[in-house]
Amino acid sequence: MSMFSAVEMAPRDPILGLNEQFAADTNPHKVNLGVGVYYDDNGKLPLLQCVQLAEKAMMDKPAARGYLPIDGIAAYDSAVKNLVFGAESEPVKSGRVATVQALGGTGGLKIGADFLKKLTPHAKVLISDPSWENHRALFSNAGFAVETYAYYDAAKRGVNFEGMLASLNAAAPGTIVVLHACCHNPTGYDLTPAQWDQVIAAIRAKGLTAFLDMAYQGFGHGIAEDGAVIQKFVAAGLTFFVATSFSKSFSLYGERVGALSVLCDSKDEADRVLSQLKIVIRTNYSNPPTHGGAVVAAVLNNPELRALWEKELGEMRTRIKAMRQALVDGLKAAGVQQDMSFITTQIGMFSYSGLSKEQMVRLRSEFGVYGTDTGRMCVAALNSKNIDHVCKAIAAVL
Ligand code: PMP
Repeated sequence: MSMFSAVEMAPRDPILGLNEQFAADTNPHKVNLGVGVYYDDNGKLPLLQCVQLAEKAMMDKPAARGYLPIDGIAAYDSAVKNLVFGAESEPVKSGRVATVQALGGTGGLKIGADFLKKLTPHAKVLISDPSWENHRALFSNAGFAVETYAYYDAAKRGVNFEGMLASLNAAAPGTIVVLHACCHNPTGYDLTPAQWDQVIAAIRAKGLTAFLDMAYQGFGHGIAEDGAVIQKFVAAGLTFFVATSFSKSFSLYGERVGALSVLCDSKDEADRVLSQLKIVIRTNYSNPPTHGGAVVAAVLNNPELRALWEKELGEMRTRIKAMRQALVDGLKAAGVQQDMSFITTQIGMFSYSGLSKEQMVRLRSEFGVYGTDTGRMCVAALNSKNIDHVCKAIAAVL
């Protein structure tokens, strides 16, 4: 008898399982709209010019790889602060933001979750209904009871805002509320600025802790536009958490570049919080890797490379929007009678299509079009070559 004989097989990750199924599919027209990855119009994962230039400069001056500090590259952490809060902002200038480099946005969430568990062990966590699948698992594994706040309204094809406010108003003080800062995954429906004001007022009134997940800054309306929600939280005088991911905005998925920032009341508080975040990191993986952080810091801290990044990110954003429009037009041309224009009111990488599980299964088995059973499709994987096939397939199952 091995000590592992009673170990149960864990369920497969639904999205990675979909990838395996896709890889095995022999349909020559197959299209993978399952994972949240941006592909260019040739269906290729882009390697951004700004990244290539930064890497070339690094290769030209090869550097040895010592251990990084526990909280990562200082120039990276300050670039993240400047991006998230603004270089000239009061929180950055007064030094009351604690920022650590993290292993992707997921790593930022996990460091924050572990710190919160020590600080407020009995708090509950609320995530949106629905949310990125890993939110629930990540906060549960950190030891929290995880519940949901109302978010998606299928009938209305939008946000159930009254429901959301009611959930927040019913939450106990100290409850941790995970909010998608922009480009809500999976629905593609964001709050309006006026709705954010009301959410912030509820968070303040009820004494809740906001944890903003910012995995898609620049994919919605623009870098500053998407970041505006952070300014609102600052203006409200709240302390809060922000997890940043550069996986999508730099197309650096495998480098695991992200961060956690905690806005505190004072520099003294931020110093103490930073010291605790460092303990979380030290006892998990000691310190972050060098390459991805060095590339992102080099781009964000160099005016020319930064301008190039903004241009390239803008091109990704514009192409996604064009694909949303092409999807709406193509579905109409393929004979779909119902109004599908909601696809262009959604924002970011995903569209909640409203298709049922049965329809999604048919899309896969009959047409090789892969989205999740929930009806989520990644519009950032559509292109001028696969759009016709996808439109005809959706029209056939609708
Ligand atoms: N949060 C959300 C909402 C996401 O969609 C993702 C990426 N799928 C992440 C966090 C994690 O990002 P990363 O890959 O950088 O860990």
